[in-house]
Amino acid sequence: MSQNDRLTCLDCGTPNRVPHDKLGDNPKCGKCGGWLITGKVAEIDPATLQKAAQDTALPLVVDFWAPWCGPCRAMAPQFGMAAERLKGSVRLAKLNTEQHQTVSGRYGIRGIPAMIGFHGGREVGRQVGAMQMPGIVQFASGLTAKAR
Ligand SMILES: [Zn+2]
Repeated sequence: MSQNDRLTCLDCGTPNRVPHDKLGDNPKCGKCGGWLITGKVAEIDPATLQKAAQDTALPLVVDFWAPWCGPCRAMAPQFGMAAERLKGSVRLAKLNTEQHQTVSGRYGIRGIPAMIGFHGGREVGRQVGAMQMPGIVQFASGLTAKAR
């Protein structure tokens, strides 16, 4: 019997059930048909984050950023390269804290850029300040080790 893991579509916010042994088969969202694992950085809103933070299939790392923040903009391409590198093990997303101002209070964010890792409904890691791609990969990889 294969175990089902939860993986929320970062495009439409629908939680999907994915058999654990099918995670490597490019699973698609049952609602919108989009890929659930893309290797790209998804732009998400707080509602999608609340659902995706509950996912058990893969950890989610969210980059909390804002357009006015220079270090955030400098980190964006590094974060994008890290997403490609981490495809299949960790999903990366970004959330615009200027557009969604309530999230900073909800997640206790005092400075940006801030990366928070979520898995199974828990915060599993946090890193404040801009990082290069290798540092982001190292941070995110550490979360999968904790998740198991
Ligand atoms: Zn979808």
